[in-house]
Amino acid sequence: MNYDIVFVGSGLSSSATLYHILSGLREQKIPGRLINIAVIEKNQEFWTGIPYGKRSSLQSLTINPVKDFLTEAETAGFFTWLKDLEADNYPGIANAERGIIGAWTRKNGGKLEGAARYDLYIPRFLYGLYLSQKMEKVIASAKADNIAHVELVCGEAVDIQQISGASRYMIDIEADGRNFEIACKILVLSTGSLGTRKITNGLAGPHLCINDIYEPSLTVNFKKITDQLLAIKPAKRNVLIIGSNASASEIVHLLAAADQVDNGIFNQIFILSTSGLPDHLHVNADHDHLLQNLKALSEAKNFTADELMTAIENDVKYAAQNQLSVGRIHYSLSDRVVKMQQKLNADEALRFFTTYGWPFTRITRRTNEDYYYTAKDLEAAQRLHYIKGRFVKPSEAQTNSDGLTFVYTTAGDKTEKEYGQVFPVIVHCGGAEQLCNTSSRLIAGLLEKGICEINETNMGLAVDENFLANDGLYIIGPLLAGIYNAKFKFWHLENSKRLNILADALADTLLSKIGSAN
Ligand SMILES: Cc1cc2nc3c(=O)[nH]c(=O)nc-3n(C[C@H](O)[C@H](O)[C@H](O)COP(=O)(O)OP(=O)(O)OC[C@H]3O[C@@H](n4cnc5c(N)ncnc54)[C@H](O)[C@@H]3O)c2cc1C
Repeated sequence: MNYDIVFVGSGLSSSATLYHILSGLREQKIPGRLINIAVIEKNQEFWTGIPYGKRSSLQSLTINPVKDFLTEAETAGFFTWLKDLEADNYPGIANAERGIIGAWTRKNGGKLEGAARYDLYIPRFLYGLYLSQKMEKVIASAKADNIAHVELVCGEAVDIQQISGASRYMIDIEADGRNFEIACKILVLSTGSLGTRKITNGLAGPHLCINDIYEPSLTVNFKKITDQLLAIKPAKRNVLIIGSNASASEIVHLLAAADQVDNGIFNQIFILSTSGLPDHLHVNADHDHLLQNLKALSEAKNFTADELMTAIENDVKYAAQNQLSVGRIHYSLSDRVVKMQQKLNADEALRFFTTYGWPFTRITRRTNEDYYYTAKDLEAAQRLHYIKGRFVKPSEAQTNSDGLTFVYTTAGDKTEKEYGQVFPVIVHCGGAEQLCNTSSRLIAGLLEKGICEINETNMGLAVDENFLANDGLYIIGPLLAGIYNAKFKFWHLENSKRLNILADALADTLLSKIGSAN
């Protein structure tokens, strides 16, 4: 089958792009013929991707408030949809979901209108529900009006061939043990973040080690975790979480909730991370007056990337001495840093981006109120501990019938140490794979064939200002991390609002391409 456009992956990035293409086709009334589009998704669920659908938990909240999560247009669309949903008494929504939506709207009743809504944290599945309904509606009306036909293809895209001379791509899809191919003129790769690095090396033992908490789903893995814990003595029910990203906070929150139902379901939780610090509470406040180092530096005629980072670190330290976490100074800090980055010369700006982008993101990491207070309470009860160190590998030496331990290093000291405690449950929430050794057959194949290349900053795939990676092949989503050109500069793209903005830009490009082809 031949399509005009094929999307590989159907998460937020492709939903947002496709939505704008279909809306654009309707508004511009181009190109006067039916556009054939296919969306390939390896999971059963379309439009929600990993965070906003069944692979996450119904209890999961966004980690950022609406003002950082949704664009202005999405905010208006989402809250209008929510109001209509309530007015229609939640048609077609299962009881469990209704219960959560009801509890959330009751808790935030007064804040769903006006400026207060920008500070809300939304249940992630609720946003997923909005995305799905929005997509179903726009697809149905595009079909009814003979504008576009969108085919949903269930299966994993495992290989892509470029048919040179024919300006086409052939996509090999694996589904239910069989393979088939589809072809297209325009291909949009939107497969999300790379997988997490695997941490086990097949060490024997009764421990449970979870490499990817969302595969097949958080609910399935969480059940495995609690089953494993309940099978051992309460005093031994210790959980190790490697890495401290948003998923780590989420697991801590879920364990605490389970503990309220099943008292003692876990004994203690340990989080191993290079910072060894908890996430900060996200607060909307102006503390620019505290940023004395950045202020002084901004008055200098020239400054370097190193000087900028040192000033950031010193201001963060100074704020902490004044009992103000990064969560409180975040908005003031980000505003200043964005402006000051623009004053760096071209070489230093690139150096700041590649060397300090991620460290800056790490020190400013924040979380929502629910996750933050859960962690605080557990810390106070001595049931949550932070270990400062970099995970190296599981340890063979001390691994025994009670569980698994690990080898790690600490900052500035390359000596490998073994942690003196074993864990029956280990959950990996650490770093993602690197592109050069990704386990994705599809992306590895694209790199091997030279259809795609790794970008200069080594963080994502190389594209031009229109997200074009090769003739007719576009990238959208976290695979654009490290994009650095006159139009876009992002060292990471794990953010819904940014992805929506980029999706709009890609949709405009594709609309004009469709228009000019007719
Ligand atoms: C758990 C989690 C929570 C997050 N929470 C927030 C938050 O609170 N706030 C925020 O701003 N951002 C958050 N993010 C970041 C950002 O919003 C997400 O990364 C965003 O959903 C990315 O969307 P995507 O469509 O690019 O990727 P994904 O959501 O990962 O979707 C990609 C889709 O492609 C499919 N796919 C992959 N490979 C193939 C293949 N070969 N063939 C067919 N299908 C394939 C996958 O099954 C998946 O459905 C979160 C990210 C994660 C992972």
